[in-house]
Amino acid sequence: MICKDCGVDTTPCTGKRGCRHAGRWENYMVRDRLWKASGMKGGFLCVGCLEARLGRRLTPRDFTKAIINNLSPWDSPRLAARKILSPTKLTRLTAWCKRHGENPAAVIAGIIELRLRKDRPRP
Ligand SMILES: [Zn+2]
Ligand SMILES: [Zn+2]
Repeated sequence: MICKDCGVDTTPCTGKRGCRHAGRWENYMVRDRLWKASGMKGGFLCVGCLEARLGRRLTPRDFTKAIINNLSPWDSPRLAARKILSPTKLTRLTAWCKRHGENPAAVIAGIIELRLRKDRPRP
């Protein structure tokens, strides 16, 4: 699925063994009203291009309850961050990282990892 604005493949996969595309997908569904507000009808957009069209960052509330919006190891880090962190939480987290000399991206990746582990059904 190709992003209409920048041409990036939002769901890259060669289908070969040892595929390394986990963490590279931006396959998601936002609310109809938001999609219309972005000027889109059909087609796909990567997270960056949708946010550029909207002039703001996506938040957890923008995503529908569709199954494809469940947090997944295939999500790109920025998509996963949008799904779980509201702008307020993100601002607080970034401030905390600054005070403690932590890298916000690494901290967010840790939160996503924990969340995924919790969501995974136990055998
Ligand atoms: Zn794009
Ligand atoms: Zn692949």
